[in-house]
Amino acid sequence: MVIHTQKETLVQALSSTANNDKIGFVPTMGALHEGHISLVKKALSENDLVVVSIFVNPTQFNNTADLAKYPRTPKDDISLLKNLKGDVIVYLPEVSDLYDDSVSAKKYNFGGLENEMEGKHRKGHFDGVGTIVSKLLRIVKPDTAYFGEKDFQQLQIVKNLVSIEKLPVKIVGCPILREKNGLAMSSRNKRLSAKQFGEATIIYKTLNEVREKFSFTPINDLNAMVAERFLQNPHLNLEYFEIANEKTLKTAKRKSKDSKYRAFIAAFAGEIRLIDNMPLN
Ligand code: AMP
Repeated sequence: MVIHTQKETLVQALSSTANNDKIGFVPTMGALHEGHISLVKKALSENDLVVVSIFVNPTQFNNTADLAKYPRTPKDDISLLKNLKGDVIVYLPEVSDLYDDSVSAKKYNFGGLENEMEGKHRKGHFDGVGTIVSKLLRIVKPDTAYFGEKDFQQLQIVKNLVSIEKLPVKIVGCPILREKNGLAMSSRNKRLSAKQFGEATIIYKTLNEVREKFSFTPINDLNAMVAERFLQNPHLNLEYFEIANEKTLKTAKRKSKDSKYRAFIAAFAGEIRLIDNMPLN
């Protein structure tokens, strides 16, 4: 496994690989867990070599405390990746390698996808995501890039980004990996107390309940049920619950037979923000 901290040496290393070698790419913000590793394993199974980037991207954080407290565990990350069988190249840059003097994001129009859910609650977040994903894809030039459904809105936005910027890369979505108690794996889980970790299963349990009742319950009733579940739990604060159309990510008011729906939750355990989602039909 080779580690590059500068884009020039990474680009040089990639340009010396065989012409027909397939390159897979998994962008991450580090503090790696089995969810990230599942993406890397999938990428390794479908490519000759896999680039994993570890970079906490400042322009996608709208909250400076969240950025400062975001877990950073590069040594552990590297040991996890070293244990994998296959050709992995790690790109672990400083902010200055990806941003020049101005650490700012480009403004994007993702056809409205950026205005829903996470976009509403984290102003400018998807401009930051678009900016960094575009930079990374232009450096790595992978055949395929892998993103988790854990960040379903981000996955849809990245698909939109490569289409508007005409980037020749296939975007593959990968299923959500969960802890034994159902909580979606996340780097932010490292900041939860044991109590919060246990209480946070309400997110998964509620999503499951919504999925079970979806076919025979009006959406309004499901919204009310979820609000009630969270009101009863003093440890988790619901930021939003939405049942949305999978394609447009617009809030669903009533069900239409031909559409696919997904339920989305963002909630706070103390100051730690957790998100999760689940397909409903
Ligand atoms: P992050 O480091 O949080 O930016 O995540 C890097 C990639 O890993 C993103 O594409 C995430 O959607 C994906 N990911 C994060 N958590 C999970 C999970 N629990 N299961 C599957 N993929 C995940």
